[in-house]
Amino acid sequence: MTLAPQTPETPAAEPLELLRTMLEEQFALHTNRLTDLTVYGRLPGHGGYDPRTLEALAAASRQAIAETAGALRRMSEGTYGVCEDCYRTIPLGRLRVVPHARHCTQCRQHRPD
Ligand SMILES: [Zn+2]
Repeated sequence: MTLAPQTPETPAAEPLELLRTMLEEQFALHTNRLTDLTVYGRLPGHGGYDPRTLEALAAASRQAIAETAGALRRMSEGTYGVCEDCYRTIPLGRLRVVPHARHCTQCRQHRPD
């Protein structure tokens, strides 16, 4: 791996494909988890889970599914990696950590993702 100079352009095609793969994996993972949690919820004894824990985990998975689906949709629309508030490019380093990020590091301080 080589160190590319930092450019203020939209993410290049190659890292974008990596991020797309990450998002698709996250989407599949949380979809499977939500399916499991739904099954547990219907089992007698909730598969050993506390019903409130189960609901909290399901809510977290639903949110993750919505976030990753939204990011994949922005990729197909060509608006991925652009801050929704200031329209600046979200740094690639931030997208690697939070691939579904909708705001740049600065706007993130005022708004949740
Ligand atoms: Zn911003």
